[in-house]
Amino acid sequence: MSMGLADLLRGKRHHLETAAVTGDGQTESTNQTSAAAVMEDQQTDKTEPPCQTNTLGNYLWDDIPDATKWADCVHCGLCLEACPTYQETGEEQHSPRGRVYLIKSVAEGKITIDEAFSDPVFGCLDCRACETACPANVQVGGLIEEARGQINQAMPESGVTGTFKKTVLNKVLPNQKRMNTLGGLMRFYQKSGLQKAARKTGALNVLPDHLK
Ligand code: SF4
Ligand code: SF4
Repeated sequence: MSMGLADLLRGKRHHLETAAVTGDGQTESTNQTSAAAVMEDQQTDKTEPPCQTNTLGNYLWDDIPDATKWADCVHCGLCLEACPTYQETGEEQHSPRGRVYLIKSVAEGKITIDEAFSDPVFGCLDCRACETACPANVQVGGLIEEARGQINQAMPESGVTGTFKKTVLNKVLPNQKRMNTLGGLMRFYQKSGLQKAARKTGALNVLPDHLK
């Protein structure tokens, strides 16, 4: 890594604190520390996991991240070399250690679920290379999945994308009949030539990128 870790953290802290300023120029809740600020404390801070309840810190929805999964992280950094996103960015919050610390910090009420939290959590490739490298068996992949569930509920997507995801997740996937109908429609769409025509005419451009 060409820059020192402390330099990276200082730079990112400035970025995240700037992002936390609201449209009217006021800094959001003063008792909520930014994601980057808590990252600076992680080298020395190791607390016992809190008790699991229906809510945990700022995790307010079902399926909260399991505290036992981060309890054994000793911030040793042995996972850093294995993590592709850390190797690419050199940023602590995009490392396994940083992500674990952020997830824990939400549970402790130190930070809220916002963009600064969502970005590193969804930036994880879920490859779990860090789990192989971790001597303490910290289950980063499981924590990431649970944290994503919380983010999806705290920051639901709106518009076409949000409606599409909600419909598929809540109405189609749990229902075998609807799944079969959707499968049939997709086969017809692909085999009838409609798919080719839609691509040729650019009709798919009205859809969000991931649905094209
Ligand atoms: S290797 Fe394991 S214990 Fe060490 S910092 Fe990474 S996740 Fe934590
Ligand atoms: S699962 Fe995520 S945090 Fe772990 S090595 Fe892969 S990208 Fe990095």
